[in-house]
Amino acid sequence: MNWSRFVHIVESLIFPEFCLGCGVKDKILCMKCVAKLEFINGYEKGKGFYFDDLRWCLKYNAIFKKLIIHFKYKRCEKLSVFFGNYLKEIYGFKKNSIVIPVPISRKRLCERGFNQAKLLALCFCTFNSGLKFCDYLVRKFDRPKQSLLRRSLRLNNLEGSIEINGNVNGKNIILIDDVATTCSTLNECSRILKEAGAKNICCVVLARA
Ligand SMILES: [Zn+2]
Repeated sequence: MNWSRFVHIVESLIFPEFCLGCGVKDKILCMKCVAKLEFINGYEKGKGFYFDDLRWCLKYNAIFKKLIIHFKYKRCEKLSVFFGNYLKEIYGFKKNSIVIPVPISRKRLCERGFNQAKLLALCFCTFNSGLKFCDYLVRKFDRPKQSLLRRSLRLNNLEGSIEINGNVNGKNIILIDDVATTCSTLNECSRILKEAGAKNICCVVLARA
C-alpha cells in the first residue's frame, strides 16, 4: 500500500458514506454499530502449537462477522485502517519484533484483490512506529477449503504450502492474520518460521472464532 492509497483510505473514513452494520448514511460504521464491537484483550498461550502466544482485540460477535465479510470478500479494504485502530491497542511486544503477515496464494490474491493480513500488518506497523514490516512468507498453493474438512484433517493438510523468503534467525516475530479459528495456518507459518530459527512468535489477530 503506497502513501496516496493510504491517504485515500483515511479520507474515506472521514467523509460520510453508509454504515456497513445497519446501512444508515454515516461513516463506515455508525456510532451505534461501533458500540456493538467489543474490544477485548484476548490472550492464550500457544500450548500444542509452534507459536508462543496468541493475542486478539475484538470479540467474534455478529457485528464483527458482518465487517469481516465486507473486508475479506467484498473488497472493502479501507476496513484495514478501521481494524488497525483496534489492533494498535495490543501492546507489550518483545523488543525489535518484526511483523510478518500470513500469506495468501496468488490465486486467492487475484480473486480478493489484496491480502487482508498484509493490509492489517501494514496498518499495525504504521500505528506502532518501532515495529518493522517484513513480508517474508509466501503461500505456494491452497489446500481444500478449511471449512469443508474435519478438524483432524485440517491440522496437517497445509504441509508444503508455505515458504519463507527472508532471514528470521534469532528474531522475535509478530505474525498477523485476520481471524484465528483452528489456528492451523498460523501454526504452519510458525512451524516454518521456527525451523528457520525464529526465537519467539506472537500471533496477533483481530478475533478468535
Ligand atoms: Zn450502523
